[in-house]
Amino acid sequence: MDEKIMLSLPHMGGNELKWVNKAFEDNWVVPLGPNVDEFEHLLCEYLGYGHVVALSSGTAAIHLGLVMLGVTKGDEVICQSLTFSASANPIIYCGATPVFVDSEKDTWNMDADLLEEAILDRISKTGKAPKAIIVVHLYGMPAKMDEIMSVAERYGIPVLEDAAEGLGSTFNGRKAGTLGDYGALSFNGNKIITTSGGGALICPTAAYAQKVKFYATQSRENRPYYYHKELGYNYRMSNICAGIGCGQMEVLADRVSRRRKIHGLYTSLLADIDGVTVHENPNRAYSSNFWLSTLQIDPATGVTPEELRQHLLDKQIEGRLLWRPMHMQPFYADAPSYLNGVSEKLFDNGFCLPSGSILTDSQIKKVADEIHRLFASK
Ligand SMILES: *Cc1c(COP(=O)(O)O)cnc(C)c1O
Repeated sequence: MDEKIMLSLPHMGGNELKWVNKAFEDNWVVPLGPNVDEFEHLLCEYLGYGHVVALSSGTAAIHLGLVMLGVTKGDEVICQSLTFSASANPIIYCGATPVFVDSEKDTWNMDADLLEEAILDRISKTGKAPKAIIVVHLYGMPAKMDEIMSVAERYGIPVLEDAAEGLGSTFNGRKAGTLGDYGALSFNGNKIITTSGGGALICPTAAYAQKVKFYATQSRENRPYYYHKELGYNYRMSNICAGIGCGQMEVLADRVSRRRKIHGLYTSLLADIDGVTVHENPNRAYSSNFWLSTLQIDPATGVTPEELRQHLLDKQIEGRLLWRPMHMQPFYADAPSYLNGVSEKLFDNGFCLPSGSILTDSQIKKVADEIHRLFASK
């Protein structure tokens, strides 16, 4: 069968509809409800840390994380440059200015030395420290959180982890999203697990989680009439979506181990191609969920990532270039950026392989065969 092989598709476990049906039977077809409470509970249990608030998207989670950290007009927020735009856009929603920091080669995430350089330079230029730091666990690979947290702590700046791609990844045995002050998760259709669309904010205390719920339901004060002292948002997850999430939690561990297995397959199947390097955990402190398996192509091979993408597309296989760094986006062209060339080089030479947990071993082998074919033709 010549089925299309997609990058990362939803992968239902089978029990999702039971939760959704229950919502219909009880007429809980609204934002909030028992499925939302249960989904939050299951996430907390899985993470073994904190207090989780289910929201309408990962972007909303990042936004409310910044609101919780008091980010407002006139502030600067440091953000990893190599990421999806949803990491950075909420800084603009807050009326603040993003300051982009480049990556290091081991994890492809924020470089802690450059982070410190950026903080010092911003203090000298603006007279105050950036209000927050957004670090990303890109493609599931945990950032160097020990180094980043120690720089952040030295200057008293809180850290928001964008763990949208990192659910199930661990650093020194601790789960991504629980290592900073706040952690944002995404349950978009292409992520490790999905609620069709949704997100969550991992908070350090119950009181903070309560405040996030308050903001996410229009900052409505507890009075008999609608009364608002603060700006509100409509960001809570619907009880229907949360039902899908409850079903997905039953298979989350399987989904993570399947993505890791797929990564292992690619690593061994592509090992003999000169100039192709599959991105690996730098050492045993890191355990990526390998949301996407990624690779770097040595330009000396004469194959560009775009050529590989086209070659695979012709065979009904969907691959993708890496995220184009934020400092290279026209929208963010004027933002201050602290660069070392790493993210641009990763972008120029990088490629994302089809990695959905729904893919079979033979589909992974087919992808690897096609990659072999292209490189052999050079
Ligand atoms: C998916 C994603 C988001 C945003 O999540 P949504 O649920 O789509 O809003 C944020 N950051 C990164 C790195 C992502 O991959």
